[in-house]
Amino acid sequence: MTDPIILWGGGVAATFGAVVGSFLNVVIHRMPRGESLSFPPSHCPRCAAGIRPWDNVPIISYLILRGRCRACSQPISPRYPLVEAAMAGLAAGTWLQFGPSIAFGVYFVFLAGLLAITFIDLDHKIIPDSLSLGGTVLGVAASFFTGVGWKASMAGALLGGGLLLAVALGYYALTRREGMGLGDAKLLAAIGAFLGWQAVLFTVFVSSVVGSVVGISVAVWQRSDLRFEVPYGPFLALGGVLYLFWGQPLITWYLSVLG
Ligand SMILES: [Zn+2]
Repeated sequence: MTDPIILWGGGVAATFGAVVGSFLNVVIHRMPRGESLSFPPSHCPRCAAGIRPWDNVPIISYLILRGRCRACSQPISPRYPLVEAAMAGLAAGTWLQFGPSIAFGVYFVFLAGLLAITFIDLDHKIIPDSLSLGGTVLGVAASFFTGVGWKASMAGALLGGGLLLAVALGYYALTRREGMGLGDAKLLAAIGAFLGWQAVLFTVFVSSVVGSVVGISVAVWQRSDLRFEVPYGPFLALGGVLYLFWGQPLITWYLSVLG
């Protein structure tokens, strides 16, 4: 940790992560609407004024502008700097874990995709195929370079996709209602492709436990029944992140608790 290259690299990775986070805000806003990611340039969603480059510095501009648009003084959503800070933190963590390697690049892209999917699913209750299916293909291709290996990667994609597809079909057969979307199955396939089949079991376990706790809490809070829709994608993404950073130690700990 005291290695200066690792520390400096972490700072550079965090800065690059914040810049990519800024782009992810554009992806999150525009991709589900089918809009171009590059045109028109960034503008205030309230007054449509163009955002100048010096007002578009990740995290810092939000703080300097105190969360308000320079042109119309309307508040800017704190989600923008939040996404930037989250990607900065994930990038630094990936650097500390993998150092200068192809795996760093692969998992940087993987985490950026999960972050975009999380907020698109929260906003629109959809997961774009270009991210989930595109991620599955990329994950299998990347497995040759990350140490996961193509067999574990392919097995992960098939297990992840098949498992949730079976749950979705079973739920529909029992209730005639669509519970889990196919988007979730494609997302879990992508997580399996990037991390291997062991990660699929881990992610299903973590996401169902955390998802249940959050779902029940929200139901109690809103005094509603459990039939409201909580998007499941963010919990799958959380499981994937936890597995990437702490999967092996957590599995070892869990098995030791079981005895
Ligand atoms: Zn404005």
